[in-house]
Amino acid sequence: MAKDMELTKVTIKDAFWTTMQQLVTDVVIPFQERVLNDEVEGVEKSHAIDNFRIAAGLKEGEFYGMVFQDSDVAKWLEGVAYALVIKPDAQLEARADAMIEIVAAAQQEDGYLNTYFTIKEPEHRWQNLLECHELYCAGHMMEAAVAYYEATGKDRLLQVMERMAEHIIARFGEEEGKVAGIPGHQEIEIGLMRMYHATGKEAYKKMARYFLEERGKNPAFFEEEAAKRDWKHFGMIPEDTKYNQSHARVYEQEEAVGHSVRAVYMYTAMADLADADKDKALYDACKRLWDNMIQKKMYITGGIGATHIGESFSVAYELPNDTVYAETCASIGLVFFAKQLLKTEKKGVYADVMERALYNGIISGMQRDGKRFFYVNPLEVNPGTSGVAAGYEHVVPERPGWYTCACCPPNLVRMVT
Ligand SMILES: [Zn+2]
Repeated sequence: MAKDMELTKVTIKDAFWTTMQQLVTDVVIPFQERVLNDEVEGVEKSHAIDNFRIAAGLKEGEFYGMVFQDSDVAKWLEGVAYALVIKPDAQLEARADAMIEIVAAAQQEDGYLNTYFTIKEPEHRWQNLLECHELYCAGHMMEAAVAYYEATGKDRLLQVMERMAEHIIARFGEEEGKVAGIPGHQEIEIGLMRMYHATGKEAYKKMARYFLEERGKNPAFFEEEAAKRDWKHFGMIPEDTKYNQSHARVYEQEEAVGHSVRAVYMYTAMADLADADKDKALYDACKRLWDNMIQKKMYITGGIGATHIGESFSVAYELPNDTVYAETCASIGLVFFAKQLLKTEKKGVYADVMERALYNGIISGMQRDGKRFFYVNPLEVNPGTSGVAAGYEHVVPERPGWYTCACCPPNLVRMVT
C-alpha cells in the first residue's frame, strides 16, 4: 500500500456534493463504461476499450478514434478508483481489474503503451510529439495507476506505468544517447509527479522537471521535429508556439496564453514540482500566471479559454458570453492548479476559485441525469444563432450524449469523485 493513503481518509458528507457523487457512482460511471464499450445507441462511437483489446491481440480490428482515444479509458479508470473509495462495489472493481488486464496486455515488450501507434503505425512511434499525444496518454494512465493503487492497494496498473515511465526516461533527456523532447499536449508532467508521490522514486520527479524545463528552451523544437518527418501531419494543430506554451521557458512566462487545457495542466505540474523541490523561481512563475489568469482571463463561472480558435485564452478582459469556449476540461484543470497552489500557500483565493469553478463552469458540463455533456459551456445561448451561425457553431445549445473528442465527460467523472 502507498505510504500516504490520504484518499481513503476523506469522506464528503454534503447535501449537494454527496448527491453529485452518487449520480456519478450510480449512473455516470456505468453509462460511460457502456459508451467506451460501444454499447450505447445514438451517441458518437468510442471504441476506446476495443482499441486496447486490438492492440493486445485479444480481438481483430482497426484502431478507431482520436489519436488520444486511450486517455478516455485512463480518466474513466481514475474516476472508478475514487468511486470505489466513496462506495465500495466489488462488481465494478472486478470489471476495472479486467480492464486493467487488457491495458497491461496492450503494453509492448519495451514498456511502450499506446494503442494508436501499436495498431496503426508502429514505425512512427515518438516522431510527432506535437500532435500525437503519446506522452499525454501516458500521463493520464499514470494518474489512473496511482489513483487505483491508492484506492485499492492493487499495483498492477502502477507496475505497467512504471515500465512505461522507464521507457520514457530511457528515451528523453539530456544524457548521452537520449533525445530532446517535449509533449505537444502537457499532462505527462502531472502523471510523473503523481508517480513520484506514490512511489518516492526521484527519477519520476526528475523526468517531470526535464519536460517542464526543456519547454521553450528551443521555441523551434516542433518546427524542427516536423521537418524531420517524412510522413503526414494530422494537421489539426497550429504551429504557433504559444498554442502549446513552448514560446518561452516556464520561468519566463508572464501571461496565460494558448490552449487553455494545455496551459493549466502545465501550471498544475509546475506548482506541484515547485512545492516538492521548494523551488521559489518556479513557484513565482506559477503565481504570475495564476494572477494573470484569474484577474484578466477568467469568466465569472470559473470558465477559462475565451475563444474557440485554438481553444485558447484571448487577450486580457475579452470574455464574450455568446462565443465563449470555456471548455469543461479547462475549468477542471484550473481546480487542479488551485489545489496545488493551496498545498504551498494556505490562502483563501485558491479555494474560492476552486469553489467558483466547481459549482459553475464544471458541473455545467453535465446534465442532471448524468447522461449528456457540455464541452463548451456558454454563458449565453441565442436560439437560431448558437450552434448554427458562423463563429457560433461550437456553442451548441443542448448537451450531446458523447463526443468524437470525448475529453470532457470522463474528466468530470474523476473530478466529481
Ligand atoms: Zn475537454
